[in-house]
Formats: sequence, C-alpha cells, structure tokens
Amino acid sequence: MHLPPLPTIREIIRIYKLGSIKRLSQNFLLDTNITHKLVRSMGRNLTGAHVCEVGPGPGSITRPLLEAGVEHLSVIELDKRFIPSLQLLSKASGSRMSIYHGDVLRFNFDQIFPDTLSRPWEEHPPKIHIVGNLPFGVSTPLIIRWMNAIADRNQAWRYGRTRLTLTFQKEVAERMIAQPEDEQRSRLSIMTQYLCDVNLKFVINGRSFVPPPEVDAAVVHFTPRVEPLIPYPFKVVEKVVRHVFQFRQKMCKRGIQTLFPPEQVSMPKEMIALAEIDPETRSFQLTIDEFSRLCGAYMEICRKNPGIIDYYFRDEENAPSWKYQRPSSI
Ligand code: SAM
Repeated sequence: MHLPPLPTIREIIRIYKLGSIKRLSQNFLLDTNITHKLVRSMGRNLTGAHVCEVGPGPGSITRPLLEAGVEHLSVIELDKRFIPSLQLLSKASGSRMSIYHGDVLRFNFDQIFPDTLSRPWEEHPPKIHIVGNLPFGVSTPLIIRWMNAIADRNQAWRYGRTRLTLTFQKEVAERMIAQPEDEQRSRLSIMTQYLCDVNLKFVINGRSFVPPPEVDAAVVHFTPRVEPLIPYPFKVVEKVVRHVFQFRQKMCKRGIQTLFPPEQVSMPKEMIALAEIDPETRSFQLTIDEFSRLCGAYMEICRKNPGIIDYYFRDEENAPSWKYQRPSSI
C-alpha cells in the first residue's frame, strides 16, 4: 500500500530540525532495508492488523508499517518535536494513524485497540501487534512490566496473545534467549521465556543508527504462550528468580537463602528439598522447570509461615512498605 510522495526521513529531520537529543538516547534507523526487515520480522501478513508503535521519532519504522497495509496504527511518542512530522504522515496515511504524545511507561493500553479484535487466550494471537525501537534504557524496564501484563492478561493482553517486536541492546537480547549453561543466562531469560516464545530475529550493527550508539542492537519477537511454563503468580516468580540470580555464578542455595530471614536456617533447606533440586547447581544452570519447582516450594513454605512472603533481602527499593518485620523475640 503506497503512501503519496513524501520527503525522505533525512529531509524530514532537516526540515523540522529534529536532530537527535543524546540525553534521550535518540538513535535513528534511517536505512530503509533495516526498517523494512524489522517490519517483516513482526509476522507474515500485517494487512488489516492494528499496530501500536512505541517511540516512532521521525517515522522511519512508521512508514513501512503503513505501507504494509495495517488497518490502524497508533503511535506513542514522548518528544513533542516529532508530533508535526508524525501528523504529516498521518494525513498521508488516509487517517489510518492516531498520535499519542506521552510516555509509554505511563501509557494505558486498555482501550487502544477495538474490542472486536479480542480473541480467547487459547486461540491464535489477535491481529494486534506492538512494535518499537525505543532507547535501551526504556525498553528493558518496559519488557518486565509487559511480562507482568502478559501474566495478568491485562493492558494490551486483554485482547489475547498480542505479539511484540522490540529492539534491545544486543547483549540484553542474548540474555532473553539464553538457555541453561549459557554465559548469558540470567533473570531476563527466565522472566521472558516462561511467559513467551522468544525469538531473536536479527542483529543491527550499531553503525546503522544515526548517530551510532557504542553497542549493537537486536530485534526480538515475543509471542505469549498459551500456558506459562511456571504456573504461579508473577510477583512470586519475579521474587524467586531475582533472589536466585543474585549470585549468578554461585551455587543456587546461596541465592535461595536470601529469600528468608537469616535466623530461619531450615527454610532454605526445606525449599530445596521440596523442589528436589541439587543445591550445588549454579543459578545459570537451572532449567525453567527447576525454577517452577522452586516457586512452588517457596509458595508452600510461605503458606505455612505467614509473613515470610513479605521478607525482602537488601532490596529496599522493591520492598513494599508492609515488608516483613522480624519478630522481636528472635
Ligand atoms: N523509531 C525511530 C527510529 O527507529 O528511528 C526512533 C528511535 S529512537 C531510539 C527512540 C524514540 O523513542 C525517540 O523518538 C524518543 O523520543 C522516543 N522515546 C523515548 N522514550 C520514550 C518514552 N518513554 N515513551 C515514548 N517514546 C519515547
């Protein structure tokens, strides 16, 4: 689906004085081979799909999305300097585009797509996609929030198993697909893989961006699983995985100990026994099934010992205000 003749993205940047702001990590993708490849990596047929692009900037991915025949495209951009050039593109698209000026980290995806697109979770994913090349400092915290939304089936996932295609720093993308024993195996590997089928589509050399960042990037595609590989609440999985990976290279028993107040010496041993894992396994060697058993064992101990679930080790920032109070008698 061709758009009417428009200035190139380079010309748009010049005409609208849209020089990249380093502080905001604005690294643009101006190579149309790469932006088309990124759009193709979202899935075979985008005709008739509803898409949300996060961080469109001057519109280098926005254009191939419109050309791919999407029925409607919503874009969320934080930097207001880009709004006029996005409005130009919206006009050229025949009103197929909605522009939201705001922060994707605060954006509510509840109402953004038509309800008629909803599909039961177990069925094929809906014709809804989220895509974006955001600054790396935004995409990494965002993906954990979105995994939480996938687990809870809310936000963009109240419509079904909405697919996601995002760019990350290459090392972060490698962590997301890392298997047990892999050097890159980390918290992100478990938190993304237990909920989604995660595919690293292709690597983008840092030199392909304008201006070039110091690192390479990679495009990652996520399709939510019908059944999560760990059947426990997201908050529990997140807590167990975070604690176990505190000491990635050490025996997993070391991280497990930090889930419990230091005076509760028997609880870590009980958790390991209940989960039937070898306490000397290094954290990066554990499989998702072993993490699932650890989460189940942790929940069982928390059920028998009220208050333990609220204990947070060292992690004041993430600890809720009602965190575990050590009984004064101990
Ligand atoms: N998509 C364009 C491209 O590939 O050339 C621009 C990419 S640039 C790396 C990231 C874009 O995301 C910028 O336009 C920036 O203003 C925008 N952005 C940064 N943080 C954002 C946030 N929290 N919410 C929405 N947009 C954001």
